[in-house]
Amino acid sequence: MVLLRPWKEWGVTRKEWNSWKWQIENRITSLEKLEQHVNLTENEKIGVSEVLKKFRMAITPYYASLIDPYDENCPIRLQAIPRKEETLISKFDLKDPLGEVRDSKNECIVHRYPDRVLFLVTDKCGMYCRHCTRRRMVGQTDAHKSEKAIKEGIKYIKRNEKIKDVLISGGDPFVMENDELEEIIEDVYKIPHVEIIRVGTRTPVTLPQRITRKLTRMLRKYHPLYVNTHFNHPKEFTPDSERAVKRLVDAGIPVGNQTVLLRRVNDCKNVMRELVYKLIKNRIRPYYIYQCDLSEGIEHFRTKVDVGIEIIESLRGHISGLAIPTYVIDAPGGGGKIPITPNYLLTKKDGKVIIRNYKWEIAEYPEPNYEKLKCNCEFCRKENAEEEN
Ligand SMILES: *Cc1c(COP(=O)(O)O)cnc(C)c1O
Repeated sequence: MVLLRPWKEWGVTRKEWNSWKWQIENRITSLEKLEQHVNLTENEKIGVSEVLKKFRMAITPYYASLIDPYDENCPIRLQAIPRKEETLISKFDLKDPLGEVRDSKNECIVHRYPDRVLFLVTDKCGMYCRHCTRRRMVGQTDAHKSEKAIKEGIKYIKRNEKIKDVLISGGDPFVMENDELEEIIEDVYKIPHVEIIRVGTRTPVTLPQRITRKLTRMLRKYHPLYVNTHFNHPKEFTPDSERAVKRLVDAGIPVGNQTVLLRRVNDCKNVMRELVYKLIKNRIRPYYIYQCDLSEGIEHFRTKVDVGIEIIESLRGHISGLAIPTYVIDAPGGGGKIPITPNYLLTKKDGKVIIRNYKWEIAEYPEPNYEKLKCNCEFCRKENAEEEN
């Protein structure tokens, strides 16, 4: 149920509709405005008025135009419009489920893994996803981090020569102006020990107008630069979002996708299969499926872990390995991402491993006699020398 000419309903020209700034300025942020575009249920009316006391709502006119106005369970709608359940805080909910505050080095940097950091440059997004993991901060000010805080972040990366990979995220860095964003990317790019830059953004899905030629011309100067985006449902593929992704990929930017497993949105193997096909058709690599985190007010989105395992199991063998993401639980407390996979290795006995395929046919693999000698490759020699020093 995608509207053919959504700009008509908004009383603007197609040109305005296609301007990302118009989309941001006209985001739906109040109950009154939302009611003009969607027939809300009682549950949603209570949800919006209660939830807005604590969390922000903002829906781009574009993303709102994908909502089925007659289906309360529309997957687009569930991600965009607060429901009454969002006011409930379960006993397992945590403000900061991933322990990011503990791993923060300053206002902008989360440093958990040895070789890479998260660089959070804004708390603003095009749309505020109802299932946001970082909702303790995202959308709180709907603004970018101060220049001072961003400079502190750059300084931290400069001082730490082990950091090879900088993941610029937020919020959504692509809601910044081109020149603001370029200044940050350029500063990171110039640090000699930084080898790759990644940007996390949901704009191809929620604000595809943002991916302009001017933006991709800027980004391509800073290769190797990767983009990770966040498609959750096949309905999010539209001519607009596909064009946005095409522009990124045509600029030589590898695009990956991080899906969150969400009850009623995509907790179904057929929805996920369709989603990963759409991803690879658009040259997007399905990177992660996340188990939904323990953030406040989102228990109604969580599933059992078995659902995720079954989804991965339903993909493997039936579809190319290219299309199969890694299912992970980001460990509560800050343990990082932990891959969860179906078991294919059944046992080891008599020098053989017993394995099974996707059809549960059993196979044996006899292992050779093999004694692991101390490796003498040039990289191990270097590592050993460093350890001795
Ligand atoms: C997810 C995450 C990263 C990046 O992890 P990759 O597996 O390399 O994509 C880095 N730092 C933090 C704190 C993260 O949560």
